[in-house]
Amino acid sequence: MQLSGYTDKMHTSLESGVAQYKLSFDDAELDISALVGKPIELTFSQQIQCSACGSMTKKSYSQGYCWPCANSLARCDLCIMRPETCHYYQGTCREPEWGESYCFSPHIVYIANTSGIKVGITRKTNTPSRWIDQGALSALPILEVNTRLDSGRIEKTLKSFVSDKTNWRKMLMNEVKPAELIPNKAILLGEIPSLINELSAKPLSDDVINIDYPVIKYPTKVVSLSFDKTPVISGILNGIKGQYLLLDCGVLNIRKFSSYHLTISA
Ligand SMILES: [Zn+2]
Repeated sequence: MQLSGYTDKMHTSLESGVAQYKLSFDDAELDISALVGKPIELTFSQQIQCSACGSMTKKSYSQGYCWPCANSLARCDLCIMRPETCHYYQGTCREPEWGESYCFSPHIVYIANTSGIKVGITRKTNTPSRWIDQGALSALPILEVNTRLDSGRIEKTLKSFVSDKTNWRKMLMNEVKPAELIPNKAILLGEIPSLINELSAKPLSDDVINIDYPVIKYPTKVVSLSFDKTPVISGILNGIKGQYLLLDCGVLNIRKFSSYHLTISA
């Protein structure tokens, strides 16, 4: 089996509690979960094509864009990483129309157990993919709001009580203790009653989502692989977690190499 094309982050879904992964090559999709346990080889052909404008770029910026697009697209702006800094109301959004559809839509504030309990936000339509992308073992939505800015304001306030970061090495080695999300949710909500009121944030039910990953062996130490240093990467695919392929020779963050032209052989 061989497939070639410009790739993207892995497309994910949850089926019977297990994360499913598809690797895209232009128009084709490969069920890469099915290759766990098998030898694979990935080759980078030294071509990167901006996923927005389609021009060739020597280097990838903001995970898959050329330099001009990374500096002009709203989705590459800092406010996407830090939603509490949304500047739409100042009239300075890079692409107001895009912002209206992307940021002015229902957003969820959640807690998840990735390498410990963390708080995060996502568009309502992006669950459960958001949690799979982060390698969460479990996730619990806590509040729904109408805009990305509002979710960012809540997240920023909750950062005083809980982390917003994942220790990705621990996540990949599966050095993660089980966590009780429901009692933690109750504690966090108890810290911010006035903000919930001010933003008319809607409390969500206590439905914990548990996620298993297609992994037969976790790494005992994390070695990061990169197509920029090693254009041909081959090994046994021991599993997939987050946006990482866990190979016997190291881990590969597929998302980081969005827009790279790759060939996979298995
Ligand atoms: Zn571009």
